[in-house]
Amino acid sequence: MNTFSGVGVSPGRVTGPVKQMPPTVLEPPAGQTLAPGTSAEHAVETLKTAASAVQAELRERADRATGDAKEILQATALMAADPALIKSSTKLIGTGLSAERAVWEAAEEVAAMLRQLGGYMAERVHDVFDVRARLVAQLRGLPAPGVPAGTEPFILIAEELAPADTATLDPALVLALATSEGGPQSHTAIIARALGLPAVVAAPGVTGIVEGTEVFLDGAEGTLSIEPSAEQRAAAQSWAAKSATRGNFDGRGILADGHLLPLLANVGNAKEAVLAAAAGAEGVGLFRTEFLFLNRDSEPSMEEQVEAYRGVFQAFSVPGEPRKVVVRTLDAGADKPLPFLSNAAEPNPALGLRGYRTGLNNPGVLKRQLEAISTAAVGTAAEVWVMAPMISTPAESADFADLCRAAGLRSSGVMIEVPAAAISAAKIFQHVDFASLGTNDLTQYTMAADRQLGLLSGLNDPWQPSVLKLIAGCAEAAQAAAKPLGVCGEAAADPALAVVLAGLGVSTLSMTARALPAVAAVLKTVSLKRARELAVLALAEASAEDARTAVRGGLPALHELGL
Ligand code: PEP
Ligand code: MG
Repeated sequence: MNTFSGVGVSPGRVTGPVKQMPPTVLEPPAGQTLAPGTSAEHAVETLKTAASAVQAELRERADRATGDAKEILQATALMAADPALIKSSTKLIGTGLSAERAVWEAAEEVAAMLRQLGGYMAERVHDVFDVRARLVAQLRGLPAPGVPAGTEPFILIAEELAPADTATLDPALVLALATSEGGPQSHTAIIARALGLPAVVAAPGVTGIVEGTEVFLDGAEGTLSIEPSAEQRAAAQSWAAKSATRGNFDGRGILADGHLLPLLANVGNAKEAVLAAAAGAEGVGLFRTEFLFLNRDSEPSMEEQVEAYRGVFQAFSVPGEPRKVVVRTLDAGADKPLPFLSNAAEPNPALGLRGYRTGLNNPGVLKRQLEAISTAAVGTAAEVWVMAPMISTPAESADFADLCRAAGLRSSGVMIEVPAAAISAAKIFQHVDFASLGTNDLTQYTMAADRQLGLLSGLNDPWQPSVLKLIAGCAEAAQAAAKPLGVCGEAAADPALAVVLAGLGVSTLSMTARALPAVAAVLKTVSLKRARELAVLALAEASAEDARTAVRGGLPALHELGL
């Protein structure tokens, strides 16, 4: 096969050699013993050599990396030769276990100890497991797990990326991403858009491409071709040459007729908020607070929460010029499990205790979070709005608004990401001040298609006319209630879909800061009247594909900008 087809989730055309993401390291079988003829002493020596090799490789990568990636790699390098880990492993090898199995169990012991210590130490548990996987891969003579290292730029291919891979993914080295799994709302798609990398997901067969093969990837078309033609090489050069014209956002989301459509950013911490403000974002439409809670065994303290929230507010605190920051309360469960809140053993985690529902078991966590947000909001010029994820009923919305009032928060809202909430939007608006459409989950629940599953990516597409109809209904309800309705799912970052959303009547769009210039550039070329016509076109189609094609055909700017 010369061309692989998938779903284009981040536009861009590039050529380059591929590197495959190594497979996940599997657990050595329980009770695995030393190979016949191998002495315990020899196994210990082999383990020590492996630990030194892993440490050296991580150090070398840390030397080349910058920022967060550097810190993570340095910490992991230290852990690789941790004397406690080697000592416990040596003891277990002494009982007859293989080096692989011994280090696997020893890491488990170290992790349990760190968990018990809590706080910062508990947060190191994932470093221990990362090192364990690297040691086992080294012992097996397999490539190290995680994003491969390299000195020359490459196109990264994987089954699917995990959020943790973002930290060690160097955008200066990785030209583009392609996966066999995932969908438009999957982690790979989100990571690609955040880093501004062209990407194709759900492309079966790409994990079989031989390492080093030269390919052409088209993130708008959703294709990857081996042996690029002269035409494809020219397309990649032209994309690179146009990067300057796509690069800037002047800080105002506006349609051709002057209709204002504020463009906001999705952020997860203060650092991202500062970058978003520098990129011209008019505010924050989604502050995903769960990043402060992930990879932890216990709830962050009140002080820690206040500091983290204040950091984001400060980035948009411009006296005399109120900038909105919409804080989403903790969205745990399903694809974001938290050991102290969610139950990993639920049969259907996406339909279980997630988002606002985790409060059913642990009401205190939400109350303390609202208190921390309220405290952090004191003294900032940012306009602090708060919303709850995974709301299903008007009653839940009313309860959440009560909790916000009790915490002294002025503006409360909900995310509409469950079809029931979309259908009841008019009643929900009776209780809250605003709503924001979480189109990632709204699509997965409307289409009953897991957002991580590559095979279902055709269903899991926000262009699905059923999803657009639900959005249209919400926009009507918002207009009748004269209350704001934003979009903060990945749909807002698709320039063509952004036009449709404007035409359907949403009042703001929130996206990764990287997507702001492209979305703004396309919005500028259409009037509200034209956007409404295109929205009507999309709603009239019977499939996501036809809706997308009909709208893209009416937007010549997409072609001119290489989107
Ligand atoms: C969404 O579901 O659209 C959303 C913005 O929330 P998340 O992607 O964090 O679930
Ligand atoms: Mg969601």
